[in-house]
Amino acid sequence: MHRLAVAVSCIFISAAAAALAQTAPYKQRAREIYKELVEINTTDTPAGSVTKAAEAVAARLRSAGFADADIRLFGPAPNKFNLVMRYRGTGAKRPMLLLAHLDVVDAKREDWSFDPFVFREDSGWFYGRGTSDDKAMASQFVANLIRLKEEGFKPERDLILALTADEEGGDYNGAEWLVTQHRDLVDAEFAINEGGGGNMRKGKYLTNEIQAAEKVYQDFRLEVTNSGGHSSLPIKDNAIYHLAQGLARLSALEFPVQLSEITSTYFERSATVETDPATAADMRAVARATPDAAAAARLSAKLPYWNSMMRTTCVATRLGGGHANNALPQLATANVNCRILPGATVESVKQRLVDTLADPTITVSLVKDAHPSQPATLRADVLNAVESLTKEMFPGVVVVPVMSTGATDGLYFRNAGIPTYGVDGTFGDIDDVRAHGRDERVGVKQYFEGLEFQYRLIRTLAK
Ligand SMILES: [Zn+2]
Repeated sequence: MHRLAVAVSCIFISAAAAALAQTAPYKQRAREIYKELVEINTTDTPAGSVTKAAEAVAARLRSAGFADADIRLFGPAPNKFNLVMRYRGTGAKRPMLLLAHLDVVDAKREDWSFDPFVFREDSGWFYGRGTSDDKAMASQFVANLIRLKEEGFKPERDLILALTADEEGGDYNGAEWLVTQHRDLVDAEFAINEGGGGNMRKGKYLTNEIQAAEKVYQDFRLEVTNSGGHSSLPIKDNAIYHLAQGLARLSALEFPVQLSEITSTYFERSATVETDPATAADMRAVARATPDAAAAARLSAKLPYWNSMMRTTCVATRLGGGHANNALPQLATANVNCRILPGATVESVKQRLVDTLADPTITVSLVKDAHPSQPATLRADVLNAVESLTKEMFPGVVVVPVMSTGATDGLYFRNAGIPTYGVDGTFGDIDDVRAHGRDERVGVKQYFEGLEFQYRLIRTLAK
């Protein structure tokens, strides 16, 4: 009887403690900032303004006691202001940058089950455009810096917060603008950004990714011109046929498998959580100094993501040609989209395309100049901090370094010599990715875990 009573009161106390923990003032504040940011439309449309969101954050930072002189609101266009704030440390070490973007991909009311710009908590989820990409992270940074200030935390390095515009598109990429126009304000020893984070499946926490590299985006335009003529008098030399046959050869092109420190570690560690033993063995086989070709081929066939991690890829994405049903085509064009491994040159990929197309009538040109991306080396302090915090907060979860097959704003900072890592303690379900899509959401529990993870990470790395 007595033991039962103790057990019951323990349950009662822990439930009360949990309820209290949920409503801790710093958590409430994080939720308020998150809600405020989600409800400000920051799309690259006439209805959107990143400036409004930046101003809302600036107001919060000012009322938390950060000096006006340490808060900058600026940008190249009136609705595309970025926010930069400096949390002053002792100066013993060089600064650390906390980077998140404020803009979001457009969302239409009719595509969603509810208004995407109304923050909504329902059955354990936070819903709204930007809840996952990237306003969870932005609000966590802001809330944690306010919490640290309240606690009187004095870091050994300045903490620089940069909340930026046009990561998702638009003409005024804030990260690029800051690093080129105001380098002194964002210069740092290293940076923490989106692009990494925790993966779970059906509620089970699996891996925590650190993004340390990303592939380079490059479009190529293929073009064949011809003098044309009447289609009743065809000749063998046809612009559409030249292009089509070149593209058929291109469809068979496979770039060589090439792993880096980051991607081989990714496969090696992913093998430890892979449930299929044959796949796990293949992952170990490609992680070796000389990757096993047969294992690489099997992994490539199994998952496009693994294929893209191991090699440069190029794929035809658009096609055009001809001008009338009864005329020989004077022009045939295609767009080929390449995702180039960091370290490989755009010129070498272009040459490979030319060789593969194997037809001098097909010209190959760059659509836009690439933003080559240098991989960051895996800094021991960042890796160790993420590993020990992951162990502490999410026992059993494996930390894996990754190279994004897409691109984030991290590339502008990496290219400027500031190693940038995608680190995020907010876990998401790998089978339920809604960023850029409809009914975007983040788990309530996962949001607050991410808040705590970032808090501890900043404390650890700023010392
Ligand atoms: Zn994003």
